[in-house]
Amino acid sequence: MILVLLGPPGVGKGTQGARIALHYEIPTISTGAMFRDAIARGTELGRIIARYRIDKGEYVPDEVVVRAVRERIHEPDCVRGFLLDGFPRTIPQAEALEALLAEEKCCLTAVLDFEAPMATLIERFSGRRVCPVDGSTYHIVTQPPRQPGLCDLCHSQLVLRPDDAPDVVQRRLEVYAEKTAPLLDYYRKRGLLYSIDATAEPETVFGQVVAVLDGLRQPPIVEKL
Ligand code: AMP
Repeated sequence: MILVLLGPPGVGKGTQGARIALHYEIPTISTGAMFRDAIARGTELGRIIARYRIDKGEYVPDEVVVRAVRERIHEPDCVRGFLLDGFPRTIPQAEALEALLAEEKCCLTAVLDFEAPMATLIERFSGRRVCPVDGSTYHIVTQPPRQPGLCDLCHSQLVLRPDDAPDVVQRRLEVYAEKTAPLLDYYRKRGLLYSIDATAEPETVFGQVVAVLDGLRQPPIVEKL
């Protein structure tokens, strides 16, 4: 199973991605999380990414992102499939992904497009808190940690992501509309796009995802003679 999650920043792709990964036993590859982690650990990739203003919502050049994804999907945990969150984000990245998968003689299973109105996105951003150590995500109202302000998993102090500041959020939504929204058409034309109403509670949204994905796994109905 090879999945792509699309949708504007703040729509809940991270939350749903974690649930999908657990349910279908495939790793999540989040380019944003990979980049933040690489910068924090000062790796070679981190030093390259640090040249770009990801804290301001600007995209990393396609060739840098594609190289990082190529390396990641060749790791052993990806043999049964994987879930891409935050990649592809441009048409050249989508074309590069198609070529990468063709090299491996496989193809995308589905692209899930998470949809929510602007007011919902803004509300989600303002309440989002992340763990700077393990990257887990919370929302102060809809998905609060067990102890206020502390990560459930490692008990670190939760923080606001720098790129969740209101002016940066505005810029990220603009960049999404300009560069990533055209991917919807790209995947619709290939018959791979499935819309998910992301306005509901996470449990309900996940129910829609499972209905779509399990539907794809059903063998075709053969009519009895
Ligand atoms: P995310 O956590 O997916 O919101 O990503 C955080 C930031 O990392 C984005 O705002 C971009 O600056 C950068 N980034 C992540 N994935 C990509 C990508 N596929 N192409 C370009 N930039 C990316």
